Amino acid sequence: MDPKAAARARFDTVRADMIALSHRIHAHPELGFEEERASTWLAETLTGAGFTVHKGICDLPTAFIARAGSGPLHLALCAEYDCLPGIGHACGHNMIAAMAVGAGIAAAHVADEIGVTISVIGTPAEEVGDAGGKILLLERGAFAGVHAALMAHPYPADVVEPAIIAVSQFDVHYTGKAAHAAAFPEQGINAADALTIAQTAIGLLRQHIRSTDRIHGIVTKGGDAPNIIPAHTAAKYMVRAQTLADLEEIRAKVLRCFEAGAMATGAALDIVGGQQPYAEMHHDTELAAVYRRNAEALGRVFPDLASQQRGAFSTDMGNVSLALPSIHPMIGIDSLPAVNHQPEFTAYCITAAADRAVVDGALGLAWTAIDVATNTHLRQRLLGA
Ligand SMILES: [Zn+2]
Ligand SMILES: [Zn+2]
Repeated sequence: MDPKAAARARFDTVRADMIALSHRIHAHPELGFEEERASTWLAETLTGAGFTVHKGICDLPTAFIARAGSGPLHLALCAEYDCLPGIGHACGHNMIAAMAVGAGIAAAHVADEIGVTISVIGTPAEEVGDAGGKILLLERGAFAGVHAALMAHPYPADVVEPAIIAVSQFDVHYTGKAAHAAAFPEQGINAADALTIAQTAIGLLRQHIRSTDRIHGIVTKGGDAPNIIPAHTAAKYMVRAQTLADLEEIRAKVLRCFEAGAMATGAALDIVGGQQPYAEMHHDTELAAVYRRNAEALGRVFPDLASQQRGAFSTDMGNVSLALPSIHPMIGIDSLPAVNHQPEFTAYCITAAADRAVVDGALGLAWTAIDVATNTHLRQRLLGA
């Protein structure tokens, strides 16, 4: 049997389990770095399929690496499994987990025949926006020796090379001085005013940013009572730009807006985090084209979204892509008008279309690994030979 047919036959034996795994993670959403159940379920499934699994690698309790095969070409599948606060799996990471595990099991079945080592790397906390799981795993060596990293991500439609830009997320804290708001207002230093001035300054800054830059945030603490001058306010902000270099520039301007709030009110400003931004994604065009051909062979269609794609998102897979050849195609779940990070999208991530995407994504990634391993040019390029 040829390797692709053999991988598909192996996948068919776990197909129902992978869909059940996707649904189980969806039903038990866990936030970044707290994905105890999801990472355990994945590790158990891979152990049962013959992988050698190490849990809690790199001092990250919910990360793992599962390895099968012993060929010289080392390919990794990245599994994400964190959810969003309040709205569960509104980014479909339950599907990413099932696709990565399914692809790993299918590809591992032929690993020695095609001369590869297959790793499934459990990468926690993609949604956190700063020092994400893949960034920490990268700097702590989890990707050492890996020649290429593959994953697929749910989306309203299939896109082979989505726009993925850099992001920095940080917390803003202002500390002023409490006082009775009516009896002794002159004694107070208003930390809420500081935040208002910062937001106004950011609003004005928007005239002067690139059309590809993004600035967005939420107030996480606005005060305790209307008759107490707020002594402490806090916010979470994200700044995005096309590249890490552009990001540094716009981030500095946004930070000046927060400094303006402190200067005007006399409140003290403290910025926490934002030191480990997500990088822009450099899609490996050749590998992405291989994935696309395989996805199309499975019946998937890639509509031309270029004209309507205004936005872009960010992922710590971008950092992986700067270190080694990587792909991050989007796999469609036919959800429009529902889009990622909406509760409506959460509901779509366990529909029949989502389950089909889990199957196609797993097989598409497994077949991509097989093509990469058996194509002389690609294999030599990745091995650096
Ligand atoms: Zn997301
Ligand atoms: Zn996501």
